[in-house]
Amino acid sequence: MIGCPYCLLPGGRGWRMAGKQGLFDTDEEFIEHIEMEHDLAVRREDETEEQALARVKAKNPRIGTKDCRCPSCMLKRMAEWLKREVEG
Ligand SMILES: [Zn+2]
Ligand SMILES: [Zn+2]
Repeated sequence: MIGCPYCLLPGGRGWRMAGKQGLFDTDEEFIEHIEMEHDLAVRREDETEEQALARVKAKNPRIGTKDCRCPSCMLKRMAEWLKREVEG
């Protein structure tokens, strides 16, 4: 069983649903989940970073847009939101 670190974080989707969300039986299922739900390109054995990104972008067009849900974009949006809250 593989647990998705992003879903299982406190406040993550799996945490909130307190069920089997974020748990996977195979590497392949886990990677597919990371690519489709968390907007991260996972490199396969014979791929370069660019090839991996191009492949994942083809099936998940949200990657790299303003709606991107990868951890760094989520953090960036959270920081912007906090800044707005603080500055009013
Ligand atoms: Zn996840
Ligand atoms: Zn992103």
